[in-house]
Amino acid sequence: MNTVEYSNTSHDENAHQEARHKLPAMLHGARQKCPNCGKGSIFTSFLKVAESCENCGQELHHERSDDAAPYFTIFVLGHLIVPLLLILETHIFPPLWTYLVIGIPLIITLTLLTLPRVKGAIIGLQWALQMHGFGPEEEISLTSPLDPELTGR
Ligand SMILES: [Zn+2]
Repeated sequence: MNTVEYSNTSHDENAHQEARHKLPAMLHGARQKCPNCGKGSIFTSFLKVAESCENCGQELHHERSDDAAPYFTIFVLGHLIVPLLLILETHIFPPLWTYLVIGIPLIITLTLLTLPRVKGAIIGLQWALQMHGFGPEEEISLTSPLDPELTGR
């Protein structure tokens, strides 16, 4: 019988950090709720992230979802829409006007529905991974560009 021993070095190093579960945080974010409590709203408008949670006070302004939300939205919707278009064009042959009347509004609607949910899930993941200031307080040392040690004066 073989036994496998795993090193817990990385866990020991992070033992002082609180455990945050990724999936619940991402699901809270996908529901556009605070990744910490799941109750407060994560957005103040369509994609504008709140400074902090109105329910638990968790600071949310640390998020840096940047281009990840549009990237994953395009990734997910592209994998749904392109096969659908290929099936339509190879089996049903709809007239071109149906793409203008049904296809484009459908794609725009799906994008607008998906984008805030994906952004919320990314913020939830960043919170769970304690990225970008979501973690424990870090000592930030800002040095002035006029600092004598840096300028050599
Ligand atoms: Zn909260």
